[in-house]
Amino acid sequence: KIIVFGSINIDLVTTTPRLPIPGETLIGNSFFTTPGGKGANQAVALAKLGIPTQIIGRVGNDNFGLELINNLKNCGVQTENIFIDETVNSGIAVITVGQKGENNIIVIPGANAKVNQEDINKLYPLLPTTNAILLQLEIPIDTVIQIAKIAQNTNIKIILDPAPAQILPEEIYPLIDIITPNEIEASQLVGFAVTGEETAAKAAEILLQKGVKCAIIKLGAKGVFCATKQESFYIPAFSVQAIDTVAAGDAFNGGLAAALFHQKPLKEAVNWGAATGALATTKLGAQSSFPDRITLDKFLIL
Ligand code: ADP
Repeated sequence: KIIVFGSINIDLVTTTPRLPIPGETLIGNSFFTTPGGKGANQAVALAKLGIPTQIIGRVGNDNFGLELINNLKNCGVQTENIFIDETVNSGIAVITVGQKGENNIIVIPGANAKVNQEDINKLYPLLPTTNAILLQLEIPIDTVIQIAKIAQNTNIKIILDPAPAQILPEEIYPLIDIITPNEIEASQLVGFAVTGEETAAKAAEILLQKGVKCAIIKLGAKGVFCATKQESFYIPAFSVQAIDTVAAGDAFNGGLAAALFHQKPLKEAVNWGAATGALATTKLGAQSSFPDRITLDKFLIL
C-alpha cells in the first residue's frame, strides 16, 4: 500500500472576480468549506485512483476534526492512524480563488504542527506492506526527515512534495527518491527563478547533485520537467479549460504515485501525474476535483 504522512486541513474557500491587493476590500462571489491539506489531498487522490492508501497525521479537538476523518474514510482512505489531538484545533487553510483560477492560500497548521515521534512510531508495523511514502512540508520538518531516514534502508520509495516553499536542510536530499517542486518551490530550493523548461532543467540538475534520485518540476500550465541520472524529459501540459488550480500539484503527486504503484515506467508515471493534475484544474475545490480511475483512463486515451 501507499502511506501518506502529512497534513489534514479544512479549506475555507472564497471565490472572487480577482485576487485582492493589500488593503483592499473586495466583494466576492461565493464561499464554501471543503476538506484539504496537502497530505489528505494526496491520500484522496490516490484512493480515488483505486490505490490502497493509509494516512498518518493529526486533527484537532473541534468539529472539523471528526468531519475531516469521516471525509477521508468516505473517500476510501484508511484512517486508523489519525490521532485526535485534544490540545489544539484542526489545521485550517484560508483560500481565495480568482476568476482565472489563480489562488492565494494562508495555512494555520494547528494539529499538523504537533505531529511527532508518537506518530512516526505508528509507521514501523506498516513498513513490510508499504510500497511508497508520500511527504509534504505541512508537518514539522524534523518529522519529515525522520520518516525519510526510516525508509532509507528499505525498498520503500520516498516522494517528497517540498510544499509550501521553503529551504530544505541539505541532509534530506540523499534520502529522497523523487522530489516534486512547482516553479515557486523549485526557485526557493535552488536560489534562482525557475520559470519554464530551460530553468527547470538547470534546477533539476542541481537537485540531482544534492542527492535526490529523481527531480520532477511541476510547471503549471506549461507542463512538467523530469530528470534522473539516466534520462531527462519535458512533457507539455494537457490542454484543458482550467477553472481552479487549487491542489493541482497534489493531484499530480497522487497520479504519479498511483502509476508507480502499478509499476509503470517513469515517463508514463509523470504522464499520469500531469493528466491527474490537468483534470483537477477543470473543477472547483481540492479533493472534489480529483478524477477517479475511469475518468483518468478515458482522458489518457483521448
Ligand atoms: P501546484 O498546484 O503545486 O502549484 P502546478 O500548478 O505546477 O502545481 O500544477 C501541477 C501539475 O498539474 C502541472 O505540472 C500540470 O501537469 C498540471 N496543471 C496545472 N495547471 C494546469 C493547466 N492550467 N492546464 C493543464 N495542466 C495543468
